[in-house]
Amino acid sequence: MTMVESALTAGNLVNGAFRPAGAGRTFESRNPANSDDVVGVFPRSDASDVDAAVDAARTAFDGWRRTPWPSRAAIILRASELLEERKEALAQLMTREMGKVLTEARGDVQEAIDMGKFIAGQGRRAFGETVPSELRDKWAMTMRQPFGVVGCITPWNFPIAIPSWKIFPAILAGNAVVLKPAEDTPLCALRFVEALEDAGLPAGVVNVVFGFGEEAGAALVAHPDVAAIYFTGSVDTGRIVSETCGRMLKKCSLELGGKNAIVVLDDADVELAVDGALWGAFGTAGQRCTASSRLIVEQGALDQFTSRLVERASHLRLGDGLDAKVDVGPVINETQLRRIHSYTEIGKGEGASLLLGGEVASEGALAKGWFYRPTVFGDVKPAMRIAQEEIFGPTTVIIPVASMEDAITAANSTQYGLSLSVYTNDLRTAFHAINELHSGIVYINAPTIGAEIQLPFGGTRNTGNGHREAGGHVLDEFSEWKSVYIDYSGRLQRAQIDTE
Ligand code: NAD
Repeated sequence: MTMVESALTAGNLVNGAFRPAGAGRTFESRNPANSDDVVGVFPRSDASDVDAAVDAARTAFDGWRRTPWPSRAAIILRASELLEERKEALAQLMTREMGKVLTEARGDVQEAIDMGKFIAGQGRRAFGETVPSELRDKWAMTMRQPFGVVGCITPWNFPIAIPSWKIFPAILAGNAVVLKPAEDTPLCALRFVEALEDAGLPAGVVNVVFGFGEEAGAALVAHPDVAAIYFTGSVDTGRIVSETCGRMLKKCSLELGGKNAIVVLDDADVELAVDGALWGAFGTAGQRCTASSRLIVEQGALDQFTSRLVERASHLRLGDGLDAKVDVGPVINETQLRRIHSYTEIGKGEGASLLLGGEVASEGALAKGWFYRPTVFGDVKPAMRIAQEEIFGPTTVIIPVASMEDAITAANSTQYGLSLSVYTNDLRTAFHAINELHSGIVYINAPTIGAEIQLPFGGTRNTGNGHREAGGHVLDEFSEWKSVYIDYSGRLQRAQIDTE
């Protein structure tokens, strides 16, 4: 077992300094593998604390937007290097605060490092367009400009990677940021922002307001001086955020839930598909927006796939993710544990066969945390609630189908469209599936998790509202275009009228 730091008391980070919540209220962050372990105590902020952070960001914005893009990029690059130096300590903190096993926590930090380097590289590549004017002696071009103060609201399941996906590109484009991180993982968010501060980010460019969604989060969304909101979280919260932004005419980027599927066809390499399903369904205890929470299996592969999956999942070891022998860590909190179990009851009530798990794990040291056994349902119909609703835990369902076409219909049959995968050895089938699957991400012969930062990330339908993060077009989300016309003819030239 590795040593971890003891509990700390932090303030909101406003204009480079820590300050408590105005009302003096606090909340605790606790280790989900051992709820006696208090990771830190944080301010429970309200609208007045959000006001202070937005004021600081507004003041910092003016100097920051004038800082050259390559200079902004240099700070982001330095922050990535600091994250790299601190990777092991950050990963251990993340396992303690969020629960994911240490190898995955290292991956989460690595994603932020990758994102920082990728975004820093965009600092000299923020291209605009130059196009010929329809008039003589007239120049026509575009340039990017920041929105101003933007709000970032993040969930707990990728406590460093997701803030990095939003904050790095936002500040590269010259915006100032107020971050409201998830209440379950405040210290990870703070440590991420500290790397930026240590890299030389001017005070006030990124501010952090801790607290609960309905209080601090809602106040940030509704703040009149916040020009854009970048939100990752559940569909229900996304709707609330989007309604406020819609009324206030704010840009609003939503990355929401998923009910992702692995399709296993008769011609697939079944053992490879089982490898993928185990990792996709039970990695991060199923708490990924891209988790493989549905396994759609063609009849010819069904028996072998089901028996191998259940057999191998039965050997997964539960425990504290700091222990290298552990495969599956805790779920994030007690509410989520109860919610996951309620879906087991729903599945049984719907007539699905419980093949594995289906219960809270509380033997020995597990009793101190929030552990749920890897759970597999068989005989699941595509319309059942356990096949339609995001459970966000280590529960997956096997949906038998008669053909590839039925598999694709089932895969496309939820409100979500984040990540879909097909296991097949037939090239034509693979390309047919790529065309027919309606999701933001498609994998062939790999599970639904594993996105890389150089491609766009996001989903169709209710997984979002048409935006994508990461990828080569990432700056389109974090800046807006200014079209510039320069008439050097010395006379009035009228577009559409004085053309030749
Ligand atoms: P959540 O919606 O409960 O909370 C997300 C964030 O929103 C938190 O910081 C929370 O405090 C805040 N919030 C809550 N109510 C708010 C309100 N009324 N106004 C403003 N902010 C508010 O989600 P969660 O449980 O933290 O995260 C799990 C969800 O996130 C899952 O649905 C998962 O699929 C989704 N997710 C999506 C992606 C993606 O990129 N598509 C990535 C990771 C997680």
